[in-house]
Amino acid sequence: MRKFVRLSVLSLLLLSGCGLNFYTDEQLEPLSVQAYQQATAEYPEVTSGAEYEMVQEVARRIAAAADENFPWQAKLLKADNVPNAFCLPNGRIAIYTGILPLTKNIDGLAAVMGHEVAHATQRHGGKRMTSNQLNGVTMAVIDAGLGSAEMESETRAQLMGAIGVIGQYAVTLPYSRGHETEADIWGIRYAIRAGFNPNEAPKVWERMAELGSSGPEWMSTHPDPLERAKMLRKMIPRIVQEEKGWSPKSSKQTKSSQAGR
Ligand SMILES: [Zn+2]
Repeated sequence: MRKFVRLSVLSLLLLSGCGLNFYTDEQLEPLSVQAYQQATAEYPEVTSGAEYEMVQEVARRIAAAADENFPWQAKLLKADNVPNAFCLPNGRIAIYTGILPLTKNIDGLAAVMGHEVAHATQRHGGKRMTSNQLNGVTMAVIDAGLGSAEMESETRAQLMGAIGVIGQYAVTLPYSRGHETEADIWGIRYAIRAGFNPNEAPKVWERMAELGSSGPEWMSTHPDPLERAKMLRKMIPRIVQEEKGWSPKSSKQTKSSQAGR
């Protein structure tokens, strides 16, 4: 019996490469709160000005397009030498000022934010935690609803990396190829739904490629940007067609409840 149980856990772990997720949004919430607090304290927050307003506007529109019941938050961090961005489970976004010269305009920012938000909406953090086979202690801590403070620092750093934190508190972990492609495609969908120009996305990846190996940190955890730009250029017209007439779940509910009256 015992042997049987072990075998089925093993087969579950093998399956996890396909995107199995042992963690619910609720389980990840305390971790997301703590990790966000810690990671965003690393640099001063920008709380006014044109760039701040742009980040808030893009976050608001992408969040509406993602149509998830998340406690959305977006921070712009003053870090001109950090060309990066992330979104943690349940919609906690950080944009570093260092990525703004590469995103260049509001549509470019929407491309990067859409991509990062898609990692959260597709639950890539929980899936990565599942496939990384976190040790029993970590799982027990999460099951008990405790935060990352109860973990050893090495485990905590790995966990923060798994849910998408970058910077000194986390072990830098790239997402899988499959997760990246998924985030690229969903990111484009969100940008289109939110009324941004999706054609800016491949241009952003090309601007990153121009910087070559000395390019942004973001590239070290992402596949070849030129390849991604090429793939997206091919797919964008089809995605634009598919997203025609999209409306959020909430408005559909309102419509159907009105119709029912
Ligand atoms: Zn990514």
